[in-house]
Amino acid sequence: MKVALAYGSNLGNRSENITLAVDKLKENGLGNICCSKHVVSKPVDCPQGSGDFLNGALTGEWQGSCRELLDLCQKIEGEVGRSKVREINSPRPIDLDILLFGEEMFAEEDLKVPHERMLQRGFVMGPLAEVAADWIIPGEDSTVGQYFKGMK
Ligand code: ADP
Ligand code: MG
Repeated sequence: MKVALAYGSNLGNRSENITLAVDKLKENGLGNICCSKHVVSKPVDCPQGSGDFLNGALTGEWQGSCRELLDLCQKIEGEVGRSKVREINSPRPIDLDILLFGEEMFAEEDLKVPHERMLQRGFVMGPLAEVAADWIIPGEDSTVGQYFKGMK
């Protein structure tokens, strides 16, 4: 299945954290990874004093289920140093979110795909448009590229 993920870091060596997380995705079976450029973005809805984020998106090929991919993302977040118990939106060395999973949609409490907030976030849609411009967004009438153009 073709999948798209978003990644973000605003703690520690941000680009190193991202590289490490991407390497781990690869080691654990995500194939054919294509990463966007990283963009710097201001923290949104974060506690005061939170640092700027480095954000990006990637596409890859995943053989397992969407739930297995979420489990892997959460395992990697832990390995790259993110603690489980923390204030909402507090600074994190890495955040890995599933944006798209082929044409599939999931509306479970702990797994919503397409990602709930991606369409409101330029720092997600910009990098995603770089690597997945022609992907039709499930539930929308447009591709990622068209949607991002309309946001500007
Ligand atoms: P956020 O990504 O909103 O900053 P977290 O990374 O702490 O916050 O995620 C909170 C919860 O979001 C996780 O427990 C996870 O189960 C849930 N979640 C729902 N949909 C997704 C998705 N598409 N990708 C990643 N996490 C998701
Ligand atoms: Mg997340």
